[in-house]
Amino acid sequence: MKMREILERDQTVFSFEFFPPKTESGWDALTDRLHKFEALEPSFVSVTYGAGGSTRQKTHELVCHIASNTSLDPIPHLTCVGHNEEEMAQILQSYVHAGIDNILALRGDKLSEGDNTSAFAYAADLISFIHAFENDSFGIGVAGFPEGHPETPNRLVQMDYLKAKVDCGIDWICSQLFFDNLAFYDWIERCKLAGITTPTFAGIMPIQSIAGMRRMAELAGGSNFPAKLQKRLYKFQDDPDAVRKIGTSWAAEQCADLLDHNVRGIHFFTMNQSKATEEIYGSLGATSGTKLRNPQ
Ligand SMILES: Cc1cc2nc3c(=O)[nH]c(=O)nc-3n(C[C@H](O)[C@H](O)[C@H](O)COP(=O)(O)OP(=O)(O)OC[C@H]3O[C@@H](n4cnc5c(N)ncnc54)[C@H](O)[C@@H]3O)c2cc1C
Repeated sequence: MKMREILERDQTVFSFEFFPPKTESGWDALTDRLHKFEALEPSFVSVTYGAGGSTRQKTHELVCHIASNTSLDPIPHLTCVGHNEEEMAQILQSYVHAGIDNILALRGDKLSEGDNTSAFAYAADLISFIHAFENDSFGIGVAGFPEGHPETPNRLVQMDYLKAKVDCGIDWICSQLFFDNLAFYDWIERCKLAGITTPTFAGIMPIQSIAGMRRMAELAGGSNFPAKLQKRLYKFQDDPDAVRKIGTSWAAEQCADLLDHNVRGIHFFTMNQSKATEEIYGSLGATSGTKLRNPQ
């Protein structure tokens, strides 16, 4: 279903992000677990695109598997890095064949400073290419960074670049993960000042381990880990179960507050695990995304 229709159907959009597992056992574990995610009735799920080509074919396989074998509505991520126009057209064509309606268009992290294999310098270039492709076949989403993107320290200029993506014609913005809702609310206000009113989904990642938090801090450069959260986690750093519960309850509090603020959507970075998301749904008083949605 095109994002425009999803947004009409769901007052609050709930979505889950998966990554394509590299190993066969990881693949089996995720595909076995998909029914647990189905039971939560998200508005859509998304599948990441491996940086530097590592899991690209697997993204396509997982998206097609989800589309053909589950009731979940999959949205592939697609990045610019390392692709020429012909390759990009092939990928889009394969998604048309698979009946995919939306794409999350990203720049991706650069392969290297001197990389000249990419036909698209920025996500905005990819958005224009997707629009020009076969009758404008896809709804298009982009990434946004409430706490800033490391490559553009000037936050006013960064907002101009986000506005440029919006002006290319997009349907939604999905935020980078954040742990302080005030940072997200302030960013939404700054977006409005820049004339950006595109539906924006809040990226939430329940911390499940100290090591996972450190990995995420590396991947999501610019994201802030509040002292209050770190103090709670480090107090119990030798107790993995306690760390997991603290991370999950922090994310649950964030979600409850986001719903109180009528956020347009919540996007869970699930790390392919269903437990934390199930617990968060439960803590919000619901067992499925449908029940969590506001009355129509
Ligand atoms: C929800 C979400 C999902 C993600 N999924 C993936 C994934 O599946 N695979 C993956 O590899 N990565 C993924 N990423 C990471 C993302 O690809 C990187 O953070 C990347 O560095 C930025 O991507 P972008 O689409 O925002 O790029 P862009 O919007 O192109 O911006 C990249 C940088 O360039 C700057 N910029 C933009 N336009 C210009 C211009 N005209 N001139 C100069 N500077 C400019 C921006 O301010 C920013 O600093 C994801 C991020 C998010 C938030």
